[in-house]
Parts: sequence; structure tokens; C-alpha cells
Amino acid sequence: MRVQAINNNIININSRKYTNTTSPTETIKTDKSVRDVVASQNIAFHGLFGNTKPSLSERFQYGLEALDEQTLFIVTSNEKDSNRALKKFASKIGIPVTKTYTLLVKDNELKNDRTLDANFAIFKKGDEYFAINLGPLFGLDIRKPEAKYSKETHYSEGDVVKLQAGEVIHTGEMVWKDEKHKFVFKPQQRYNPENAKKFLISKSALSTDSDIQLFNQRMISSLTSAKEQKSTNKTKYFNFSDIGGLDDIIAELRKFVIRPAKYPDVFENIRLNKGILLYGPPRCGKTLLGQALANEAGLAFWYKNANEFKSGVVGSSEEAVRNYFKEIMKEPGVLFIDEFDAIAKRRDGSSNARYDDSLVNQLLGCMSDLEKSDTISFVIAATNRKDLLDDAMTASGRFGLHLEVPMPDEQGLEAIFNIHAKGKKFDDDISISELIPLMKDSMFNGSDVAELITIGYFNALERLGINTKMDAGTFCSRDLQLISIAKVDLLDAFTKIANQKIAR
Ligand code: ADP
Repeated sequence: MRVQAINNNIININSRKYTNTTSPTETIKTDKSVRDVVASQNIAFHGLFGNTKPSLSERFQYGLEALDEQTLFIVTSNEKDSNRALKKFASKIGIPVTKTYTLLVKDNELKNDRTLDANFAIFKKGDEYFAINLGPLFGLDIRKPEAKYSKETHYSEGDVVKLQAGEVIHTGEMVWKDEKHKFVFKPQQRYNPENAKKFLISKSALSTDSDIQLFNQRMISSLTSAKEQKSTNKTKYFNFSDIGGLDDIIAELRKFVIRPAKYPDVFENIRLNKGILLYGPPRCGKTLLGQALANEAGLAFWYKNANEFKSGVVGSSEEAVRNYFKEIMKEPGVLFIDEFDAIAKRRDGSSNARYDDSLVNQLLGCMSDLEKSDTISFVIAATNRKDLLDDAMTASGRFGLHLEVPMPDEQGLEAIFNIHAKGKKFDDDISISELIPLMKDSMFNGSDVAELITIGYFNALERLGINTKMDAGTFCSRDLQLISIAKVDLLDAFTKIANQKIAR
């Protein structure tokens, strides 16, 4: 299934995956190795022992019969996991919940005593029904009985799928042994919560159930915070493949952030480094790394320049910091604080110190709270001036993971060039190996390389007479074929950028 993230929504091509999410990055890929393990386990599903209560199929129908637009029907073999996932994906479900019915699948309901890794929820919007995969390790496979398993019918954690009558929901790629135990989706024939009350676990928000309340809070805050996110967010979404020459740093981020964010269970008793310091010269990819990281981890991304926290009024900057931390403790996300040195300068007792010190203290306090909280959120602080930071800030437990984002070396320059060259046509006379040493000598950063190609492209438009055609209104789409960047275009661009750098 191909999914493309565009702006704040996921547009899905040729599929029925549905989303109303406002988080920038919700496409979670299934780890192939996990899928392989699941397939090899070939979990078989057998009849009930004793048969003292209705079959799983029957109980599944009771849950469907009890659905209204404020009810969640959860099917799970592990309530703790599904509760956690529900909060994580609250914004994707997007309905206020007053009741939940849970079909708890127990180990002893399986003939072969193996745990059924069922973890999904069904909800209703108007006349339509949706299933959300609450993972974390097992995929959902939803298809018509006659259809074969394929990638198209396999859904990963957090995926929301519109259900169609007659489809069978397979979890953990199990093989059905018995018709009585299939989860077959039949749209509600009648609304009848009586059986659900009797045979499923029912919870109500009225009985001050904290999980439901937390779910609603997260759902609402993710919808409202999305508005603010738009104004603070740089809207294009990047992946690690958009970043050149920083493979070592990306490997560290995979280790310390991506895997813990995607598989929290594996890291349950581990003290995670939730504060990461990215330091190094400007325009070399720190912000890009933050954006790509959030995207790859499936986390919301909040961009904030530290100077925006500084209101000049004692107390209100602290409050702004506290509010942002509150948000990321509610919902997993990445808060990226650019130019961090503006608010995290060493406390030194100088004249301005009172103002700065209290902000530093506030930040330290917030980081401690974040570290203690269960929410898998990260704060990335970016700075060109690591030397100015307060020592307490860079200690472990605060911003304990320090990653240097250096000026690109020759390999890095080439990798960055190739990334920005994608989708553009170049004349054959261009040899990148001639350009690289020039860029290296002129101390090109990543942004300069991107700029080289942009200016080179504009030069090509001028040289090829495309600008004249556009001005005269004679440009037609066929002319697009003519556009190709030549060596001379890049050399001119290079001279311009190199001179600008000297002038600075
Ligand atoms: P920083 O946060 O370190 O100041 P940015 O991440 O904002 O730098 O980089 C600015 C722009 O320069 C990016 O949006 C991208 O176009 C380009 N760029 C910088 N570094 C890289 C890189 N390593 N790979 C690809 N593009 C880069």
C-alpha cells in the first residue's frame, strides 16, 4: 500500500486507509523482520475450552451491536497495551468517548495455549465503521474471506481502516481453524448493548474512568494543538533519506529515539534520554534532522525558536516553556528548540542573570518532569554555541545525548548535492568530482549546496530563453523538456555563493 504524507493529512492512493489526523507524520511502516517472525509463528486459533460463554465470534457481534458514535469497541489480549495505544492514537479516532466495551481474549481460550495477539478497536462515524490497529507488534489483516493475504490487506500499528460488510479481521496473521472464532465484520443490524454489557467488559466515562478521560483529553488537545502546530511547524515533511552526510547521527537517533518511540514495551524499564542536544555550525541540517526524526518515529513535531520564548517579562517566558512541555507530556511528540543558547545560557550571577536564571531553572524542572513521565516524547535542542550552555542543562537526565552536526566533508557534500539534484536534469558536461573540492575550499554548508542547485536552475532558465518565453506568454509545457542545468550554470552559481560568503 502506498501512502503519501501531504501537509497535515495522509492522502492514500488506491486504498481505503482513512485518516483525520493532524499530526505531521502518521505513516508507520511495519518492520519486515517483525512480520516475518509473526508469519513463522503461524499462530493457530482453536475452539474454546469448556464453551461456557458465547464464542469469540458471538461476543464480537455483541460489541458491534453496542456501538454508537461515542463508544469504542476494543478487542484485545492485553488491556494495558491497548489502553496505551488508544491514548497514543486518540487523534486518529477523533470521537469523544463515553463508553468502551472490551472483548478480552484470554490465553485459555486458545486450544494451543498461545497468546492471541489481538489488539484493535472499532468505532463508528455516521453509518461508517472503522478499525484501528493498536499493535504494537502485530499487524491487522482485513479482507474478504475469499481474498488472499497481501500487503494491501495488511495494516500496521496506528492505521485506521474503513470496514466493509463481510470482511474478516485477522490479527497476528493467525490462521483460522474454526468458523466460530472468526471476527467477521457485519454492520449493525440493530442497536443492542445488552449482550455487550453482559459478556464484555464495559467502562463508562461517567464512572470517572481515568483511561477514558485521558483518551478524551488527548483527543481534544491533539485537535486543538494542531492549529498551533501549523503556525510553528515548518510544513514540509522530511525523511532521513533527505539528509546527506549525517549517517552516523541518524544511526544514533534510530537507536535512542526511533526504536523507543515505536516499540515502547521493549524500553519499559529503561531510563530514556529524552533530551537531545544537536550542535554545530549553522545550516548543516540540525532542523532537518529534527523534522525527519519526528516523521520517521511517527511523532508530532513542534518547532520553536528559543527567542520566541523570551518575552522580556519575568515569569511569562517560564510559563510559555511550561505550556509547551505540558503539550508533549500529553501526547508523544518532538519539541525542537532552535537557537537553544538564547534560553539556556550558563547561570553566572551577572546583571541580567535574574531573568535568564529563572528560565534555565524552569527548563531544568520541565526536563526532569519529562524524564519521569511515561510519555515517549523528546526535546531536541539545537545550537551553534554549545560553549555558552549551562552545565546543568547538558548533564545526563536533561540534554544528556550530545550529537555534533558538523560541516559536510567531501562525501557529505556529494551526498547533499545528489539529494537536492533529484528530479532535475543536468547536461552531460557536469562532473560532480570537479565541483566538490571547490565547495569544500569555500566551506559550503548543506544549505549552500541546496542553493547552488537552485541558482544553477535559475541560470539555466535565463540561458535557455525560458524566462523570455514566460515573460512573452509563449511558454508551453513542451518547453519543460528543454530545461537542463549546464556546467556553466553551476559555476556561475558557485561564484555567486562563494563571493557572498566572503562578503559576510
Ligand atoms: P540548521 O538547523 O543546522 O541551521 P537546517 O536543517 O535548517 O540547518 O538546514 C537548512 C537547509 O539546508 C535545509 O532545509 C536543507 O535544504 C539544506 N541542508 C542542510 N544540511 C543538509 C544536509 N545534511 N542534507 C541535505 N540538505 C541539507
